[in-house]
Amino acid sequence: MAADPTSSSPLRPGTIAVTAGRPEKTPDAPLNVPITMASTYVAGGDVEYGRYGNPTWTALEDALGALEGGRCLTFSSGLAAASTVLDLVGADGKVVAPRHAYTGTIMQLADLESRGRLRAELVDITDTEAVVAACADAALVWLESPTNPALEIADIATITAAAHEAGAYVVVDNTFATPLLQRPLEDGVDLVLHSATKYLAGHSDVQMGAIVTRDDDLHAVLKGRRDLVGAIPGPFEAWLTLRGLRTLHLRVERAQANAQELVRRLAEHPALSEVRYPGFGAIVSIVLSQGEVAGDLLSRKTRLWVHATSLGGVESTLERRRRWKAEAATIPAGLVRLSVGVEDVEDLWEDLRAALDGCVG
Ligand SMILES: *Cc1c(COP(=O)(O)O)cnc(C)c1O
Repeated sequence: MAADPTSSSPLRPGTIAVTAGRPEKTPDAPLNVPITMASTYVAGGDVEYGRYGNPTWTALEDALGALEGGRCLTFSSGLAAASTVLDLVGADGKVVAPRHAYTGTIMQLADLESRGRLRAELVDITDTEAVVAACADAALVWLESPTNPALEIADIATITAAAHEAGAYVVVDNTFATPLLQRPLEDGVDLVLHSATKYLAGHSDVQMGAIVTRDDDLHAVLKGRRDLVGAIPGPFEAWLTLRGLRTLHLRVERAQANAQELVRRLAEHPALSEVRYPGFGAIVSIVLSQGEVAGDLLSRKTRLWVHATSLGGVESTLERRRRWKAEAATIPAGLVRLSVGVEDVEDLWEDLRAALDGCVG
């Protein structure tokens, strides 16, 4: 008989991705958790009602919690999770956030600020000294690392220490890195946020969010908010995300290897003035020397790479970020964000190179 996995050495992430959140191994038990479609449960138990819990969510929460090293709550989208985190900030509290964070996060902050709910201070996340100074009177420090789409890296441990000294919570949006490449709870961060829509689900067919924390009180507060506001995932979405999570390590490994190879080859291309890559993950931002027009041309010229927003799917996608009005003006007009998928890298390169060749001068 196999050893009890809880009594031996801790399992490695690839094994956790495959094994966590499974039904108990009893004769004839299914290997996978079923999709429980239920708005209500027989009275007298711990759940009672569909907004308060669902066994399919629980399986996913167990698996993602195990990967991040904390307790997980799932939400209807990444931004529903973000809204729940921002709800922790008291009246007129200050939130420090990266100026190049996900645009939806920036827009939520701007909306809440315009209605007098909180104050937001947007910072250059690479300027650790300035971020630490901004933490002094903060209630919440929002980190995203790498940032979207500038791909800047924050010094998470140093900023977290400064934030905690000020009594502020720290949240890291870990969507780009995934728990395989970065586990912020190990750096003392209070909350990890995911748009599960991206790498965790991984197939561009689900919208979901998640928050993971090690703090039981915070977990209870966030669960209370989810119960009350109802930003809950659908059981089918939770099942699909859990199914996607089973291959997260394979997808991330392949997509990252593809990205690293493409970055090497792109460095030489005459159509580009810059290739931004933080050294890990599968998001690459390229800046076309000829700016906006060349960026739009590139988006139309690829055959394999799909012109689409979002990221983290098995298929490679690209988009010029400034086509969105909400994108920061400090992002170059000719910046095209590549979400590198798991196709054969030679096919990805041939398609991208041919399209880029048509964008020179
Ligand atoms: C997509 C995304 C979000 C928002 O997630 P949704 O599931 O679309 O609501 C938040 N943060 C990052 C970094 C994202 O890429």
